[in-house]
Amino acid sequence: MTTTRATKRATARAAVLTAPGSLELWDVPVPEVGDDDGLLAVEACGICGSDVEQLRAERPADYYPITPGHEPIGTVIALGEGARQRWGVEVGDRVGVEAAISCGRCAHCRSGRSIGCTDPRLPGPIRSYSTIPFRVPPHLWGGYSEVLYLDREARVHQVPDHVTLEEAALLNPMANAIEWSVLTPRPLPGSTAVVLGCGQRGLLCVAALREAGVATIVITGLRSDRHKLELASLLGADVTVCVEDEETIEAVRNATGGTFADLVVDATPYATQPVTDALEITKPGGTIVLAGVKAGRSIPGFVSDRLVMKELTLRGVLAARTEAFDLAMKIIASRRHPLGELHTHAFPLDRAAEAVATLAGHGGGAPAVAITINPDK
Ligand SMILES: [Zn+2]
Ligand SMILES: [Zn+2]
Repeated sequence: MTTTRATKRATARAAVLTAPGSLELWDVPVPEVGDDDGLLAVEACGICGSDVEQLRAERPADYYPITPGHEPIGTVIALGEGARQRWGVEVGDRVGVEAAISCGRCAHCRSGRSIGCTDPRLPGPIRSYSTIPFRVPPHLWGGYSEVLYLDREARVHQVPDHVTLEEAALLNPMANAIEWSVLTPRPLPGSTAVVLGCGQRGLLCVAALREAGVATIVITGLRSDRHKLELASLLGADVTVCVEDEETIEAVRNATGGTFADLVVDATPYATQPVTDALEITKPGGTIVLAGVKAGRSIPGFVSDRLVMKELTLRGVLAARTEAFDLAMKIIASRRHPLGELHTHAFPLDRAAEAVATLAGHGGGAPAVAITINPDK
């Protein structure tokens, strides 16, 4: 059973990146779907630091054109029968889509990691929405678009009716937060955790750690993050630390009665000091999860002996497995945390570049936490 509702719409507007910093609105033909695939009318697409990086970075010419947007939420508008059965959703349902499009069969996928699938059907080192070139049919591979193509290996998650669009748009970052702070490090109930950085993923780590029964949660930020640190308290952080006013190691020592943390999650972009701080504020036998990327920089003052002498576990994380998305939707739908408070801005498609600049802190106006691009606005 394939609906014709979407296919009556001949074209969809997409904001296509044609060169560094250059987004153009293109009219893209909307494809027919087969038995195994579908189409999504994008209602909101969350953005994160990797959108900032994608829009700014200088890439080889054959990278372009490409449609960014890897955190889409929308309504299913066309669906093949096979896809309907596999995904358990109907035309008209609101769903969130995982960024990764992974085959589930290659050695990489079978190891449980979602990013890095080596199956050659779709090109690129990362097989994910926003990283598949526009030239690959049927072209609609990014969430900065009125319509997103639901590939047969896409993974969709139904959004319960009582969940708002703004809450649902946190699916992707919430899944990351659960992966980074819970599924990868497996903190014990009653333990102590420090989250370095209070961007939307850092904030969502606080909610995830609360769900996992962690007893004491400390989060750090900058002076300019004051509103985010207030949100962190709302979400259940016990102690907030402004690293420009306090010394991180001393602050964590005081917050933990001198015992330091079982788990430290670094969710700061660019900054390298949090990595060396993490070595000091993790207790012997504890775990450090590195999630913030540092734009390729090495870490000055990194003394690996600290890892050895304290027998620390150091883990890097990038994406989230499907289980994390399932848990994320459950936590969002539970309404146990005031997650809707995180959404600060929505921009229409023709202002997508402004949305990304606002996230990067160059937009002026109200401080940004969670931002969406809403193509139907
Ligand atoms: Zn993202
Ligand atoms: Zn694979």
